[in-house]
Amino acid sequence: MVPNTIPDTKKITSGEAYINSLRGRNLRVYLFGELVEEPLDHPMIRPSINAVAETYDLALREPELAAVISPLTNERISRFLHICESTDDLVLQNKMQRKLGQNTGTCFQRCVGMDALNSLHSVTFEMDEKNGTDYHSRFLDFLTAMHRQNAVISGAMTDVKGDRSLPPHQQEDPDMFVHISRWTEKGIFISGAKAHQTGCINSHWMLVMPTMRLGEKDKEYAVVGALPVDSQGITYIYGRQSCDKRSMEGGNLDVGNVKFSGQEAMVIFEDVFIPKEHVFMDGEYDFAALLVERFTTYHRRSYVCKSGVGDVLIGAAAAIAEMNGVAKASHIKDKLVQMTHLNETIYGTGIASSFQGFPTKSGCYLCDPMLSNVCKHHVTKMPYEIGRLSQDLAGGLMVTMPSEKELEDPKIGTILKKYLRGKAGIPTEDRMRMLRLIENMTLGRNAVGYLTESLHGAGSPQSQRIQIGRMMQLEYKKRLAKILAGIEMKDNKDVLAIELAGYFSRVFKIN
Ligand SMILES: Cc1cc2nc3c(=O)[nH]c(=O)nc-3n(C[C@H](O)[C@H](O)[C@H](O)COP(=O)(O)OP(=O)(O)OC[C@H]3O[C@@H](n4cnc5c(N)ncnc54)[C@H](O)[C@@H]3O)c2cc1C
Ligand code: SF4
Repeated sequence: MVPNTIPDTKKITSGEAYINSLRGRNLRVYLFGELVEEPLDHPMIRPSINAVAETYDLALREPELAAVISPLTNERISRFLHICESTDDLVLQNKMQRKLGQNTGTCFQRCVGMDALNSLHSVTFEMDEKNGTDYHSRFLDFLTAMHRQNAVISGAMTDVKGDRSLPPHQQEDPDMFVHISRWTEKGIFISGAKAHQTGCINSHWMLVMPTMRLGEKDKEYAVVGALPVDSQGITYIYGRQSCDKRSMEGGNLDVGNVKFSGQEAMVIFEDVFIPKEHVFMDGEYDFAALLVERFTTYHRRSYVCKSGVGDVLIGAAAAIAEMNGVAKASHIKDKLVQMTHLNETIYGTGIASSFQGFPTKSGCYLCDPMLSNVCKHHVTKMPYEIGRLSQDLAGGLMVTMPSEKELEDPKIGTILKKYLRGKAGIPTEDRMRMLRLIENMTLGRNAVGYLTESLHGAGSPQSQRIQIGRMMQLEYKKRLAKILAGIEMKDNKDVLAIELAGYFSRVFKIN
């Protein structure tokens, strides 16, 4: 058995070193019904690795934005591994996410791990405080090792879930949720499967967490642990993306985005060992809901990444309008304004959630849960409208255009260059490239990240509505209305005292 311990590997400090760190691992990855020999060399997988590599390169180019000095090792590490010590740290996470969205035009995959680390910092602390366990110190030891390596960590929360109306212990098949299959003196073994795992194959470590509130009968499902992605017993089944095989055709026009893509896979755990020192929850079912809530609070405002991707799509829409010769038309300008308004609404609510953050008991800062849910709820809709407007400006050629191979053909290529021209002076190939990029982001590979991930990632829309409903303080708002309407209230409750609880305590807090 491969021991689940932290090897003494070299610290990863650049995109190139990161890419090299992935070579030669013993991953079991299925794609198109076959085992992939070396994921790094697979043309369909490589663009997703490039997107993660960009997180390292940004940290070299703009260290104030994408790197921090680790308080655990005193060395420079990626911001993705940092525990937030202030609202400034939360805000800088968002600024880094917007920049990476701009640089890659896709999902750069590291935020799930970042948000899982920050959630676990406070939740392990609070578990220990209540139960006298030692999860927090185990977690800090693990985190220190990750800082030493400057590693990539993915976050595995979503189970395959089977019948959505039933809790884990009532499922016909117990493997519908990842659970502890056996305990030994040295640690635990887990079985089950996680779905839609972003960047799992491109990571070094993965954090397994429960996906929902759990009850006493779900005790063995209350498990959190860290494990190397190449642990024995793990199988990855790669997720297809729309138009993904274009990256196997050899060209670089039809792919739309010449360098980057996202990655998701299903992860199957068959009796996978996690040693005690990497177990951060073992049966504490009453803390599962807190962990899920903290994680989604961070992660729902992490979706400001989509404002960075939106910047690229707005740029593509403006560029294609220019290439089509219609840039000066008033309705075109108005649509670009509309796209920008929607995009900045996403950014505005996400960054506000970070600015309105507060410390938890462990000292780790948490962003504002109301505003993070509002941010994510916008994200479930606005990228679709931005995408629709970009397709409006692109014109129908975006979906009827011949392939790159035709363009390269001496005879047909000449015809295409003549008939697919837009405004004089702009090469036809440039126009085709811009149309392919819009196609890529709204219908192709990166529509996975820009659209459907926006809808379901960090929870489907209804889960945000439930959270917003819980926090909306209607009694307080009704009182405000009754006072101004001159309605007498029998209970004489002090409005200010109510205001000082929940969301409004953060709104009116003066630092
Ligand atoms: C591109 C992408 C990347 C992702 N990356 C990650 C990742 O890195 N890590 C991770 O852990 N997860 C990840 N996710 C998972 C994401 O959090 C889930 O997709 C999301 O929580 C919804 O779960 P589901 O896909 O199983 O959909 P379902 O839960 O099946 O939802 C489908 C519909 O059913 C409704 N529904 C579900 N349950 C109930 C119920 N009990 N009662 C009433 N209605 C219900 C939902 O509201 C929704 O409308 C990713 C998802 C996507 C699409
Ligand atoms: S969807 Fe956005 S927040 Fe989630 S991992 Fe990808 S880039 Fe990060």
